[in-house]
Amino acid sequence: MSSNPAELRPATADRAALVVSEVRPNLPRTLIALDFDGTLAPIVSRPADARLIDGADQVLRLLVARGASVAIITGRDAETVLDLSGLADLPGLAVAGLYGAQVWRGGRLATTPPPPELTRARSALPELVRAVSSELWIEDKGLSLVVHARGVDEPDAAIDALRPSVEKLAQSLSSEGGLEVHAGRQVLELRLAGFDKGRALREFVDAFGDASDRQLLYAGDDVGDLPAFAVVQQLREAGRRAWAVGVGSTEVTWMPADDSRVDAVVDGPAGLLSLLRGLLGG
Ligand SMILES: [Mg+2]
Repeated sequence: MSSNPAELRPATADRAALVVSEVRPNLPRTLIALDFDGTLAPIVSRPADARLIDGADQVLRLLVARGASVAIITGRDAETVLDLSGLADLPGLAVAGLYGAQVWRGGRLATTPPPPELTRARSALPELVRAVSSELWIEDKGLSLVVHARGVDEPDAAIDALRPSVEKLAQSLSSEGGLEVHAGRQVLELRLAGFDKGRALREFVDAFGDASDRQLLYAGDDVGDLPAFAVVQQLREAGRRAWAVGVGSTEVTWMPADDSRVDAVVDGPAGLLSLLRGLLGG
């Protein structure tokens, strides 16, 4: 990895162009699976204010009109993302919410029932959070609890300070590992074990069909997307046509511009939008 971003820029643009040129000829047999926050929607201070980046709605509709299938895989509640994105009427759209603990398709939502330890975590978490900072706040997603540090002084330090006590809580409540703790972009999340974006993506790929001409494009911006990037890699090793795109930004320090876990790194949701637009042929 070079420390000089200017040196990487041409190579990075080439990688994105290569992905477009490989995916485009077979667009009607392509599943385009996308994360929401930081990928389709710019990161905002209040999660409720997140919206699709301008132009994304039109581009996604054109991709579907050309025969592509679109799925969203998110850590958020599926219905929240449908509301925020305005994509509920996008033909064929599937949404995996809460890392796959929910799947929405054709207006129907299938949800995993919440385990009792989640109810106990809901009661215990506020005190642990207050002990670290009064500025941290909890978002209750029903099947997961998310502590947000965005806007807090030194957010990463606050998450690091909170993490041990939340991990201890998860272990004490679920001796069989029913709850897991995950850190993301200025968040710490307590969620049901066994769900991640890799598993959710695999289920969508299986539902999409395994004919050899079927292909996959996945894009995401956060560490929660790494299991999905790994699935892309596994599919490719198994001979399938699959590509992963990282959505980078100055805030995404864990993903360098030449990250080898993905086929290309684009610059924020605007960079992804221009890649998707490229699939339409110009
Ligand atoms: Mg994201």
